[in-house]
Amino acid sequence: MSRAELTRRTGLSRSTVKDLVEELAEHRLIEETRPAASAQVGRPSPVVRPHPSMLAIAVNPEVDSLTVGLVTLGGNVLEVTKRATPGVLTAEQTVDLAADMIDRLRSRLEPDCTVTAVGVAVPGLVHAAGSTIRLAPHLDWHDARIGEMMGAATGLPTFAANDANLGAIAEHIFGQHANAEHMVYVNGGAGGIGAGVVVAGQLFDGAAGYAGELGHTFVGGAKQCHCGATGCLETEVSQSQTFEKDSSVRASTVERQAHYLGIALGNVVNLLNPGLVVLGGFLRVFPSVAATALDEAIARHSFRAPGEMLRIVPASLDADTLMIGAAELAFAPLLANPAALYHQRVNGDHAGERDDQRVGLDRLE
Ligand SMILES: [Zn+2]
Repeated sequence: MSRAELTRRTGLSRSTVKDLVEELAEHRLIEETRPAASAQVGRPSPVVRPHPSMLAIAVNPEVDSLTVGLVTLGGNVLEVTKRATPGVLTAEQTVDLAADMIDRLRSRLEPDCTVTAVGVAVPGLVHAAGSTIRLAPHLDWHDARIGEMMGAATGLPTFAANDANLGAIAEHIFGQHANAEHMVYVNGGAGGIGAGVVVAGQLFDGAAGYAGELGHTFVGGAKQCHCGATGCLETEVSQSQTFEKDSSVRASTVERQAHYLGIALGNVVNLLNPGLVVLGGFLRVFPSVAATALDEAIARHSFRAPGEMLRIVPASLDADTLMIGAAELAFAPLLANPAALYHQRVNGDHAGERDDQRVGLDRLE
Protein backbone atom coordinates (compact mmCIF):
# COMPACT_ATOMS: atom_id res chain seq x y z
CA MET A 1 0.00 0.00 0.00
CA SER A 2 1.33 3.48 -0.81
CA ARG A 3 1.99 6.00 1.91
CA ALA A 4 -0.64 8.24 0.30
CA GLU A 5 -3.23 5.42 0.51
CA LEU A 6 -2.27 4.85 4.15
CA THR A 7 -2.93 8.53 4.85
CA ARG A 8 -6.30 8.32 3.13
CA ARG A 9 -7.38 5.08 4.87
CA THR A 10 -6.32 6.12 8.39
CA GLY A 11 -7.50 9.74 8.15
CA LEU A 12 -4.23 10.83 9.81
CA SER A 13 -2.19 13.77 8.57
CA ARG A 14 0.62 13.19 6.11
CA SER A 15 3.25 14.22 8.63
CA THR A 16 1.85 11.85 11.30
CA VAL A 17 1.85 8.96 8.84
CA LYS A 18 5.41 9.84 7.81
CA ASP A 19 6.55 9.82 11.48
CA LEU A 20 4.79 6.53 12.24
CA VAL A 21 6.11 4.86 9.11
CA GLU A 22 9.65 5.99 9.94
CA GLU A 23 9.36 4.68 13.52
CA LEU A 24 8.01 1.31 12.41
CA ALA A 25 10.66 1.08 9.70
CA GLU A 26 13.33 1.80 12.31
CA HIS A 27 12.05 -1.20 14.31
CA ARG A 28 12.13 -3.25 11.08
CA LEU A 29 8.42 -3.94 11.28
CA ILE A 30 7.76 -2.43 7.87
CA GLU A 31 9.81 -1.38 4.89
CA GLU A 32 9.37 1.36 2.35
CA THR A 33 10.25 0.93 -1.28
CA ARG A 34 10.04 3.09 -4.34
CA PRO A 35 7.07 2.21 -6.51
CA ALA A 36 7.59 0.97 -10.04
CA ALA A 37 7.78 3.83 -12.53
CA SER A 38 4.32 5.02 -13.52
CA ALA A 39 2.85 7.52 -15.89
CA GLN A 40 1.54 9.50 -12.91
CA VAL A 41 2.52 13.15 -12.75
CA GLY A 42 4.55 14.23 -9.72
CA ARG A 43 6.62 12.26 -7.25
CA PRO A 44 5.06 8.82 -6.64
CA SER A 45 4.23 7.92 -3.04
CA PRO A 46 6.56 5.29 -1.46
CA VAL A 47 5.10 1.80 -1.03
CA VAL A 48 4.80 0.61 2.59
CA ARG A 49 4.70 -3.11 3.33
CA PRO A 50 5.30 -5.45 6.28
CA HIS A 51 9.00 -6.17 6.71
CA PRO A 52 9.81 -9.58 5.19
CA SER A 53 12.22 -10.43 8.02
CA MET A 54 9.46 -10.19 10.66
CA LEU A 55 8.29 -13.79 11.17
CA ALA A 56 5.98 -15.96 13.23
CA ILE A 57 5.86 -19.72 13.62
CA ALA A 58 2.60 -21.56 13.07
CA VAL A 59 1.90 -24.98 14.60
CA ASN A 60 -1.05 -27.27 13.88
CA PRO A 61 -1.31 -30.59 15.72
CA GLU A 62 -3.69 -33.13 14.20
CA VAL A 63 -4.53 -36.75 15.00
CA ASP A 64 -2.16 -38.09 12.34
CA SER A 65 0.43 -35.33 11.88
CA LEU A 66 2.14 -32.22 13.19
CA THR A 67 2.59 -29.24 10.88
CA VAL A 68 4.98 -26.37 11.54
CA GLY A 69 5.27 -23.35 9.28
CA LEU A 70 7.15 -20.09 8.96
CA VAL A 71 5.03 -17.08 8.00
CA THR A 72 5.92 -13.43 7.44
CA LEU A 73 4.06 -10.45 8.84
CA GLY A 74 1.57 -9.97 6.02
CA GLY A 75 0.63 -13.64 5.63
CA ASN A 76 3.29 -14.92 3.27
CA VAL A 77 4.03 -18.60 4.00
CA LEU A 78 7.76 -19.21 3.53
CA GLU A 79 8.02 -22.83 4.56
CA VAL A 80 5.81 -25.65 5.84
CA THR A 81 6.96 -28.96 7.29
CA LYS A 82 4.40 -31.67 7.93
CA ARG A 83 5.47 -34.70 9.96
CA ALA A 84 3.27 -37.76 9.94
CA THR A 85 2.96 -39.12 13.48
CA PRO A 86 2.57 -42.81 14.32
CA GLY A 87 -0.61 -42.03 16.24
CA VAL A 88 -2.08 -39.33 18.42
CA LEU A 89 0.62 -37.48 20.36
CA THR A 90 0.15 -36.21 23.90
CA ALA A 91 0.47 -32.46 24.50
CA GLU A 92 3.96 -33.06 25.95
CA GLN A 93 5.09 -35.12 22.94
CA THR A 94 3.65 -32.50 20.62
CA VAL A 95 5.58 -29.73 22.37
CA ASP A 96 8.83 -31.76 22.21
CA LEU A 97 8.45 -32.54 18.51
CA ALA A 98 7.32 -29.01 17.63
CA ALA A 99 10.24 -27.49 19.58
CA ASP A 100 12.65 -29.72 17.66
CA MET A 101 11.10 -28.77 14.30
CA ILE A 102 11.12 -25.07 15.27
CA ASP A 103 14.82 -25.30 16.29
CA ARG A 104 15.73 -26.74 12.90
CA LEU A 105 13.72 -24.09 11.15
CA ARG A 106 15.27 -21.23 13.12
CA SER A 107 18.81 -22.55 12.63
CA ARG A 108 18.43 -22.00 8.88
CA LEU A 109 17.19 -18.41 9.16
CA GLU A 110 19.26 -15.43 8.09
CA PRO A 111 20.66 -13.58 11.13
CA ASP A 112 18.60 -10.45 10.41
CA CYS A 113 15.27 -12.33 10.71
CA THR A 114 13.16 -11.95 13.85
CA VAL A 115 10.79 -14.68 15.02
CA THR A 116 8.25 -12.85 17.18
CA ALA A 117 6.05 -15.63 18.56
CA VAL A 118 4.42 -19.01 18.03
CA GLY A 119 0.73 -19.47 17.16
CA VAL A 120 -0.90 -22.87 17.65
CA ALA A 121 -4.09 -23.88 15.80
CA VAL A 122 -5.76 -26.62 17.83
CA PRO A 123 -8.76 -28.79 16.90
CA GLY A 124 -10.61 -28.30 20.16
CA LEU A 125 -11.91 -25.95 22.81
CA VAL A 126 -9.22 -23.42 23.60
CA HIS A 127 -9.54 -20.92 26.45
CA ALA A 128 -8.36 -17.92 24.47
CA ALA A 129 -7.07 -15.72 27.28
CA GLY A 130 -4.76 -18.36 28.76
CA SER A 131 -3.90 -20.28 25.55
CA THR A 132 -5.00 -23.39 27.44
CA ILE A 133 -6.64 -26.33 25.69
CA ARG A 134 -9.69 -27.20 27.76
CA LEU A 135 -10.56 -30.17 25.57
CA ALA A 136 -9.24 -31.45 22.25
CA PRO A 137 -11.36 -34.63 22.00
CA HIS A 138 -9.61 -36.29 19.08
CA LEU A 139 -6.16 -35.54 20.50
CA ASP A 140 -7.36 -36.62 23.97
CA TRP A 141 -5.92 -33.44 25.50
CA HIS A 142 -7.54 -32.16 28.67
CA ASP A 143 -6.59 -28.84 30.29
CA ALA A 144 -3.27 -28.78 28.45
CA ARG A 145 -1.37 -25.55 29.11
CA ILE A 146 0.03 -25.50 25.60
CA GLY A 147 0.90 -21.78 25.60
CA GLU A 148 3.03 -22.11 28.72
CA MET A 149 4.61 -25.44 27.70
CA MET A 150 5.52 -24.36 24.18
CA GLY A 151 6.74 -21.01 25.49
CA ALA A 152 9.09 -22.77 27.93
CA ALA A 153 10.35 -25.23 25.28
CA THR A 154 11.02 -22.66 22.56
CA GLY A 155 11.74 -19.45 24.50
CA LEU A 156 9.10 -17.76 22.36
CA PRO A 157 5.78 -16.31 23.48
CA THR A 158 3.15 -18.84 22.42
CA PHE A 159 -0.56 -18.30 21.82
CA ALA A 160 -3.15 -20.94 21.03
CA ALA A 161 -6.67 -20.78 19.62
CA ASN A 162 -9.23 -23.01 17.96
CA ASP A 163 -8.16 -24.02 14.44
CA ALA A 164 -11.41 -22.99 12.72
CA ASN A 165 -11.38 -19.59 14.42
CA LEU A 166 -7.86 -19.03 13.10
CA GLY A 167 -8.89 -20.26 9.65
CA ALA A 168 -11.71 -17.70 9.69
CA ILE A 169 -9.24 -14.93 10.51
CA ALA A 170 -6.91 -16.00 7.69
CA GLU A 171 -9.65 -16.29 5.07
CA HIS A 172 -11.21 -13.02 6.21
CA ILE A 173 -8.01 -10.96 6.04
CA PHE A 174 -6.02 -12.69 3.31
CA GLY A 175 -8.54 -14.82 1.39
CA GLN A 176 -9.58 -13.82 -2.10
CA HIS A 177 -13.21 -13.24 -1.17
CA ALA A 178 -15.39 -10.34 -2.16
CA ASN A 179 -17.43 -9.06 0.75
CA ALA A 180 -16.39 -11.30 3.65
CA GLU A 181 -17.77 -9.09 6.43
CA HIS A 182 -20.38 -11.70 7.44
CA MET A 183 -18.60 -14.97 6.91
CA VAL A 184 -18.49 -18.47 8.36
CA TYR A 185 -15.40 -20.56 7.79
CA VAL A 186 -15.97 -24.29 8.22
CA ASN A 187 -12.85 -26.37 8.75
CA GLY A 188 -12.76 -30.09 8.05
CA GLY A 189 -9.71 -31.69 9.66
CA ALA A 190 -8.64 -35.27 10.30
CA GLY A 191 -9.89 -34.69 13.86
CA GLY A 192 -13.32 -33.30 13.03
CA ILE A 193 -15.30 -30.26 11.95
CA GLY A 194 -15.37 -26.78 13.45
CA ALA A 195 -16.46 -23.33 12.37
CA GLY A 196 -15.08 -19.82 12.80
CA VAL A 197 -17.61 -17.02 12.62
CA VAL A 198 -16.92 -13.48 11.42
CA VAL A 199 -19.72 -11.04 12.24
CA ALA A 200 -19.51 -7.48 10.90
CA GLY A 201 -15.81 -7.94 10.23
CA GLN A 202 -14.95 -9.23 13.71
CA LEU A 203 -14.27 -12.76 14.90
CA PHE A 204 -17.15 -13.96 17.06
CA ASP A 205 -15.60 -16.58 19.33
CA GLY A 206 -17.93 -16.40 22.32
CA ALA A 207 -17.37 -15.46 25.95
CA ALA A 208 -14.17 -17.52 26.28
CA GLY A 209 -13.24 -18.62 22.75
CA TYR A 210 -15.38 -21.77 22.57
CA ALA A 211 -17.90 -20.65 19.93
CA GLY A 212 -18.27 -22.33 16.55
CA GLU A 213 -18.55 -26.06 17.38
CA LEU A 214 -20.59 -26.74 14.26
CA GLY A 215 -19.38 -30.35 14.22
CA HIS A 216 -21.46 -31.00 17.32
CA THR A 217 -24.74 -29.49 16.19
CA PHE A 218 -27.64 -31.86 15.56
CA VAL A 219 -28.26 -32.93 11.96
CA GLY A 220 -30.42 -35.99 12.56
CA GLY A 221 -29.82 -39.69 12.89
CA ALA A 222 -29.16 -41.75 15.97
CA LYS A 223 -25.43 -42.34 15.72
CA GLN A 224 -23.59 -41.82 18.98
CA CYS A 225 -20.96 -39.08 18.80
CA HIS A 226 -17.74 -39.21 20.82
CA CYS A 227 -18.91 -36.01 22.57
CA GLY A 228 -21.74 -37.95 24.22
CA ALA A 229 -24.59 -36.58 22.10
CA THR A 230 -26.28 -38.32 19.17
CA GLY A 231 -26.76 -37.18 15.58
CA CYS A 232 -23.87 -34.66 15.50
CA LEU A 233 -22.62 -33.43 12.11
CA GLU A 234 -19.27 -35.08 12.86
CA THR A 235 -20.88 -38.52 13.04
CA GLU A 236 -22.10 -38.12 9.42
CA VAL A 237 -19.30 -36.15 7.77
CA SER A 238 -15.65 -37.09 8.14
CA GLN A 239 -12.44 -36.96 6.17
CA SER A 240 -12.15 -40.74 5.96
CA GLN A 241 -15.62 -41.04 4.39
CA THR A 242 -15.07 -38.17 1.93
CA PHE A 243 -11.90 -39.79 0.62
CA GLU A 244 -13.38 -43.31 0.57
CA LYS A 245 -11.07 -45.44 -1.59
CA ASP A 246 -13.79 -47.42 -3.34
CA SER A 247 -14.89 -45.05 -6.13
CA SER A 248 -18.22 -46.86 -6.64
CA VAL A 249 -19.40 -45.86 -3.16
CA ARG A 250 -17.49 -42.58 -2.96
CA ALA A 251 -19.97 -40.54 -5.06
CA SER A 252 -23.02 -41.59 -3.06
CA THR A 253 -21.14 -41.13 0.22
CA VAL A 254 -20.15 -37.58 -0.71
CA GLU A 255 -23.74 -36.83 -1.75
CA ARG A 256 -25.05 -38.10 1.59
CA GLN A 257 -22.42 -36.11 3.48
CA ALA A 258 -23.28 -32.96 1.50
CA HIS A 259 -26.88 -33.44 2.60
CA TYR A 260 -25.89 -33.46 6.29
CA LEU A 261 -23.46 -30.58 5.86
CA GLY A 262 -26.32 -28.68 4.18
CA ILE A 263 -28.59 -29.25 7.19
CA ALA A 264 -25.92 -27.80 9.51
CA LEU A 265 -25.34 -24.87 7.15
CA GLY A 266 -29.10 -24.27 6.89
CA ASN A 267 -29.14 -23.77 10.66
CA VAL A 268 -26.16 -21.44 10.33
CA VAL A 269 -28.03 -19.44 7.68
CA ASN A 270 -31.11 -19.04 9.89
CA LEU A 271 -29.06 -18.15 12.94
CA LEU A 272 -26.41 -15.81 11.50
CA ASN A 273 -27.44 -14.76 7.96
CA PRO A 274 -23.87 -14.96 6.61
CA GLY A 275 -23.19 -13.70 3.09
CA LEU A 276 -20.37 -16.17 2.64
CA VAL A 277 -19.52 -19.70 3.77
CA VAL A 278 -15.93 -20.76 3.16
CA LEU A 279 -15.23 -24.51 3.26
CA GLY A 280 -11.69 -25.48 4.23
CA GLY A 281 -9.66 -28.62 4.88
CA PHE A 282 -11.25 -31.76 3.41
CA LEU A 283 -14.54 -29.87 3.00
CA ARG A 284 -12.93 -27.78 0.23
CA VAL A 285 -14.06 -30.33 -2.38
CA PHE A 286 -17.79 -30.08 -1.60
CA PRO A 287 -18.70 -26.96 -3.65
CA SER A 288 -17.29 -28.60 -6.78
CA VAL A 289 -18.32 -32.25 -6.28
CA ALA A 290 -21.66 -31.96 -4.46
CA ALA A 291 -23.00 -28.45 -5.04
CA THR A 292 -26.56 -29.60 -5.88
CA ALA A 293 -27.00 -31.81 -2.81
CA LEU A 294 -25.52 -29.07 -0.63
CA ASP A 295 -27.76 -26.33 -2.07
CA GLU A 296 -30.89 -28.50 -1.82
CA ALA A 297 -30.29 -29.32 1.85
CA ILE A 298 -29.54 -25.70 2.73
CA ALA A 299 -32.68 -24.55 0.89
CA ARG A 300 -34.79 -27.12 2.76
CA HIS A 301 -33.43 -26.13 6.16
CA SER A 302 -33.33 -22.34 5.96
CA PHE A 303 -35.50 -19.41 5.03
CA ARG A 304 -35.40 -18.37 1.43
CA ALA A 305 -34.38 -14.73 1.96
CA PRO A 306 -31.10 -15.42 3.84
CA GLY A 307 -30.55 -18.69 1.93
CA GLU A 308 -30.65 -17.03 -1.47
CA MET A 309 -27.96 -14.49 -0.68
CA LEU A 310 -25.50 -17.11 0.59
CA ARG A 311 -22.37 -17.87 -1.43
CA ILE A 312 -20.46 -21.10 -0.69
CA VAL A 313 -16.85 -21.26 -1.82
CA PRO A 314 -13.76 -23.35 -1.10
CA ALA A 315 -11.00 -21.83 1.07
CA SER A 316 -8.82 -19.64 -1.13
CA LEU A 317 -5.57 -20.08 0.77
CA ASP A 318 -5.42 -23.82 0.10
CA ALA A 319 -3.59 -25.80 2.73
CA ASP A 320 -2.04 -22.60 4.13
CA THR A 321 -5.25 -21.31 5.75
CA LEU A 322 -4.47 -22.58 9.26
CA MET A 323 -0.75 -21.68 9.03
CA ILE A 324 -1.62 -18.08 8.14
CA GLY A 325 -4.33 -17.90 10.82
CA ALA A 326 -2.00 -19.27 13.52
CA ALA A 327 0.71 -16.78 12.50
CA GLU A 328 -1.81 -13.96 12.63
CA LEU A 329 -2.61 -14.97 16.22
CA ALA A 330 1.11 -14.90 17.02
CA PHE A 331 1.46 -11.43 15.47
CA ALA A 332 -1.62 -10.02 17.27
CA PRO A 333 0.23 -8.51 20.28
CA LEU A 334 2.83 -7.03 17.96
CA LEU A 335 0.15 -5.45 15.78
CA ALA A 336 -1.72 -4.12 18.82
CA ASN A 337 1.36 -2.42 20.24
CA PRO A 338 4.43 -2.61 17.99
CA ALA A 339 6.71 -0.44 20.12
CA ALA A 340 6.02 -2.32 23.39
CA LEU A 341 6.82 -5.68 21.88
CA TYR A 342 9.93 -4.32 20.26
CA HIS A 343 11.24 -3.11 23.62
CA GLN A 344 10.22 -6.38 25.29
CA ARG A 345 12.18 -8.31 22.68
CA VAL A 346 15.23 -6.09 23.07
CA ASN A 347 15.12 -6.62 26.83
CA GLY A 348 14.80 -10.38 26.35
CA ASP A 349 11.45 -10.70 28.12
CA HIS A 350 8.66 -12.82 26.86
CA ALA A 351 5.16 -13.39 28.04
CA GLY A 352 3.86 -16.96 28.06
CA GLU A 353 0.28 -15.85 28.41
CA ARG A 354 -1.87 -13.82 26.19
CA ASP A 355 -3.84 -11.07 27.89
CA ASP A 356 -7.48 -10.78 27.11
CA GLN A 357 -6.91 -9.11 23.83
CA ARG A 358 -8.68 -10.38 20.77
CA VAL A 359 -7.12 -10.73 17.37
CA GLY A 360 -7.99 -7.62 15.38
CA LEU A 361 -9.48 -8.25 11.98
CA ASP A 362 -9.26 -4.69 10.78
CA ARG A 363 -5.77 -5.03 9.38
CA LEU A 364 -4.75 -2.69 6.62
CA GLU A 365 -3.38 -4.67 3.73
ZN1 LIG B 1 -20.77 -34.55 19.01
